[in-house]
Amino acid sequence: MPLMPPRHDGGDGRDLEANPIFSREPVRVPRYALPARETAPDVAYQMIHDELMLDGNARLNLATFVTTWAEPRARALMAECAAKNMIDKDEYPQTAELEERCVRMLARLWHAERPHEVMGCSTTGSSEAAMLAGLALKRRWQHRRRAEGAPEGRPNLVMGINVQVCWEKFADYFEVEPRYVPMEGDRYHLSPETAVERCDENTIGVVAVLGSTFDGSYEPVAGIAAALDDLRARTGLDVPVHVDGASGAMIAPFLDPDLEWDFRLPRVASINTSGHKYGLVMPGVGWALWRDAGALPDDLVFHVNYLGGDMPTFALNFSRPGAQVVAQYYNFLRLGFEGYRRVQRTCRDVATRLAGEIAGLGPFELITDGGEAPVFAFRVREEAAGFGVFDVSGALRERGWLVPAYTFPENRTDLEVLRIVVRNGFSHDLADLLLDDLRRILPRLERQPGPRRGARDAGVFAHGAETRHPRRPGRG
Ligand SMILES: *Cc1c(COP(=O)(O)O)cnc(C)c1O
Repeated sequence: MPLMPPRHDGGDGRDLEANPIFSREPVRVPRYALPARETAPDVAYQMIHDELMLDGNARLNLATFVTTWAEPRARALMAECAAKNMIDKDEYPQTAELEERCVRMLARLWHAERPHEVMGCSTTGSSEAAMLAGLALKRRWQHRRRAEGAPEGRPNLVMGINVQVCWEKFADYFEVEPRYVPMEGDRYHLSPETAVERCDENTIGVVAVLGSTFDGSYEPVAGIAAALDDLRARTGLDVPVHVDGASGAMIAPFLDPDLEWDFRLPRVASINTSGHKYGLVMPGVGWALWRDAGALPDDLVFHVNYLGGDMPTFALNFSRPGAQVVAQYYNFLRLGFEGYRRVQRTCRDVATRLAGEIAGLGPFELITDGGEAPVFAFRVREEAAGFGVFDVSGALRERGWLVPAYTFPENRTDLEVLRIVVRNGFSHDLADLLLDDLRRILPRLERQPGPRRGARDAGVFAHGAETRHPRRPGRG
């Protein structure tokens, strides 16, 4: 939600006019002021419905990771639950029970040794989950420093510069020094060595990303954990890992069962995922899980009354819609392990095939191939001097496709890429239509004397991959 800037016309704008097809016309309502009188429901509905047609077709949006299709039954349940408030555990005990079941299912899916000891909650998305997980790391570090009688220095968090913008926010809002590891050569995310190098006695944790926002790649969580185990053995520094599995934590369990990235690694203290990404729920739900009570300091937990008893909660919001949590439980029940595996398998198949076809077109070179999270980034080869990634994004937009183009962060700000996120509902057929359109626009772009569009007219939101504030390069 962008913060709305002041309007240049003084905020009045033109009035909204109801189209004369309505029997009650003329109807005019102010655009930016609360109308003085009521509007008939049919008229109000139609005016809003018509205006929202301009929002574009979510199915052609290859920029977002967030679910744009849900089964009719899931939509029906969400409509039935529209009034349910997640915080009202007393009034909606069964919604609370479904949340609890989802947490236990995720704990097992992520191989917790003792799933019943896992602490977890739903959130509004991975961003809120990241704030909670970051706060838990910070509080644990504070307790540890106090117990040691050590001076409380400035806490820091180590992560790749490729982290999603929510981690930049966490560091800023909660006063933690972000130690970003820059990209180097063809290393586009965190590595074990570069993570450990930046750790010291004030490091509250290392964030490892499963499914990098920039290119869909998995960071080497097991390697990072092993390097931190080694650091512990050498120096006594005991730095926990949080896994940001916003997308990957709902992919890897189904498609990469042998990859160890989760609670199988004793150093992993907590994991988040976005229920509304590959959890396949419409926007509005995420999950945060902690290995056990030791990973989530009790003084962060608040207690609300629940059926006369005590219900611990950890959240930034108080009221929050319950419909998405119900829809998450529906998906778990409806698809089961095998259903999720088939959905994610199809996404990966579409992503890897589409990536291969795009590589075969000639002017493009893959950065990733969609074989981890079903997301891939590609660049325009240097030889194709007539156009750049921003021209490709602009030309695809003429056909309705939203494919973001953006520049990588330090130290690869020379690298400009396009990125495609394959979600449930983006079929092989749609991928073929996109390929047809790419083939159609290439001859025109190739005739250009040079790139026409730059980063300034990119015009497609890259969902947290764009760098809004120039980031400070990682320490060192
Ligand atoms: C999308 C994403 C986030 C933010 O998640 P929301 O659910 O949109 O708040 C955080 N980290 C990564 C890696 C992401 O892909």
